[in-house]
Amino acid sequence: MNAPSGSGKTVAAVAPLLEHAEAAGHRILYLVRTRAQEIQVMRETATIGHRLERPVVTLGLEGRSKRCFLLENDPTVKGATAEEHGKLCVDRKRATDRALRGEQPLAPPREFPEDGEIDLTDLDGCPYYARVLGADLEGLTETLRARPAPPAEFEKLCRADNLCAYELTKRLLPRARVVVAPYAFFFHPHVRRSLFGWMGCDGAAVDLVIDEAHNLPEYLRDLTTVALPEESVRRARDEVAERGDFQLPNGPSATRFFDVVRAAIEELAQAMVREDDALLPPGVFEEALQGAIGGNSQRLDTWLGALATWGEHLKEERRKERRLPRSWAHTVAITLLSWPKLDSPRYAKVVTRRPRPALEAFALDASEAARPMLDCHLSVHMSSTLSPLEEYRDTLGLGGHCPMVDVPSFYPRGNCRYVYDGSVTTDPEELREDARSIPRIADRVARVLEALPVKTAVFFPTFELMRQVLEAGLQSQLPSNPFVEYARLPTSDLWRSVEGWKSDPHSSVLLGVAGGRLAEGIDRPDEELGAVVLVGIPYPKLTAKRRALGEFLDRSVGHGAEYTSRAPAERAIRQAFGRMIRSEDDRGLVIILDRRAPSFAEVLPGLEPIGDLTRLSHDFYGRRARWASSRERSIEETIDLAGRRSIAETDTEPAETDEPRL
Ligand code: SF4
Repeated sequence: MNAPSGSGKTVAAVAPLLEHAEAAGHRILYLVRTRAQEIQVMRETATIGHRLERPVVTLGLEGRSKRCFLLENDPTVKGATAEEHGKLCVDRKRATDRALRGEQPLAPPREFPEDGEIDLTDLDGCPYYARVLGADLEGLTETLRARPAPPAEFEKLCRADNLCAYELTKRLLPRARVVVAPYAFFFHPHVRRSLFGWMGCDGAAVDLVIDEAHNLPEYLRDLTTVALPEESVRRARDEVAERGDFQLPNGPSATRFFDVVRAAIEELAQAMVREDDALLPPGVFEEALQGAIGGNSQRLDTWLGALATWGEHLKEERRKERRLPRSWAHTVAITLLSWPKLDSPRYAKVVTRRPRPALEAFALDASEAARPMLDCHLSVHMSSTLSPLEEYRDTLGLGGHCPMVDVPSFYPRGNCRYVYDGSVTTDPEELREDARSIPRIADRVARVLEALPVKTAVFFPTFELMRQVLEAGLQSQLPSNPFVEYARLPTSDLWRSVEGWKSDPHSSVLLGVAGGRLAEGIDRPDEELGAVVLVGIPYPKLTAKRRALGEFLDRSVGHGAEYTSRAPAERAIRQAFGRMIRSEDDRGLVIILDRRAPSFAEVLPGLEPIGDLTRLSHDFYGRRARWASSRERSIEETIDLAGRRSIAETDTEPAETDEPRL
């Protein structure tokens, strides 16, 4: 189902599903991408349940790392994988069970040290888990039925009673009709098995809802891609060197082995990659290794087996010491052992230089990882940018019989005006050949921002182009307090900064990347955002991986070029301006700085050339704060987006338009 933001997708899916699930004894598993969506869905589901006079228990799941009160302040556990954290937790739960059965006291013994304080992490077991074992599940279920607790509230409730939020959720799951969870809980095979076990059902009794489903194909490809970053090999070498190097059976030392692997990745990247990545011819990495170190594939397997065993022991040792059970040597050895098995038409083996030097077996086939959805009783996939629906259906292998609903926008047409500037483009060929093209884009963006009296988001196709345009002159012409998205900014810092930007009356411009975190996820910006500028058409970069994906889709479902180039660009365009128009009261201008915009006219209703943006802006926005100072002047500078700047008489009376809600 493709339907505009704010059109009521959740209620349209959940209301009938609740009735169906209750009648059939099914459970609704609602998959989301972000915590904000989880909160939203839990609130809406509770309201729907009450309105239907069917109050239901709705539970929200979160990863263990976010809900482990015992180890949350342990710096050595920061960044642990779910598996690593799971092992630490299992040991503590076992110790707690043994202690409660009276078999073995918790070590160190429960004695108060002289200063009267004990560090709970020094105990073998987990007091938060012990409290869960004695929790009143019946009473809690009724509390949650009357009033569902979104994640933060649930965690607060648990903290107040010293209950482990993660373990308590697991125990309450059999009583929940609706379970809201991040994608990983369903698509990681091991986690899914555990989840169904906790819920006490199998896929046949699950009605699945996938929100923001346009993310799913890429999420599944990422999930099944196998990568070996050069950095991991370096860490593996350091790990061995730190604990004492050793000789591999009839072979080199372990550190020498890792040095050779690292050099092979580096040399392949240097020799083959011009920009981001390059396809690896079959066997070329293995040959590079064997050429440098001698031996054959059997000996290589023996050495990798030895390294994996060494790493396994290290993990066990660390686990016994209650430290993170991690070994880089083990990870690298296991990845290299699986490498030859990934010679399959469903993978493209590449060497990458950006974003980091690595070997990758890039998963081409998202349908394989999507298959468990077909084992569910039903699945509903929805987003405001799911179109083209055929592409989504084919890529995930959902089958030709699957019904598709494309709900057109029903917001007043005049609320959003689409214009484009044909004097610039981000066509890579032109950027390469014309040295003036980037400064020209910088100038255009600056002129557009001058003409807009509202908070404006500017989206570039890539971080790299954004950097170049800023350096080519945009940086010095930005209005005060701009917010610029950086690829490596941690997500929590990003949203904190965005909140600051939204509430700062002096911050008018936000710069990000189409298809990036800001373009996809500015949370409820409708009251703050009045214009969106798209710098160029956000076609994905034509990397070796993307080319391989296009060829794979051509072979499997057809339309490879369209599905890997036009469809994602169309989606990124919709996503960018969808941040602004989320209800019938929202208004805004969408300005596309690229002459290729008319080829997307289908998704940009009423698209027209930009003409005089100052005039358009006056007419569209009417009386706005930033115009006030200029109105006091008798003349103002009029910016002609065709390239000229002129001094013209000021319009003393702003055009008669409705004041948009800001
Ligand atoms: S039971 Fe809960 S609090 Fe205790 S270690 Fe496991 S996740 Fe952490």
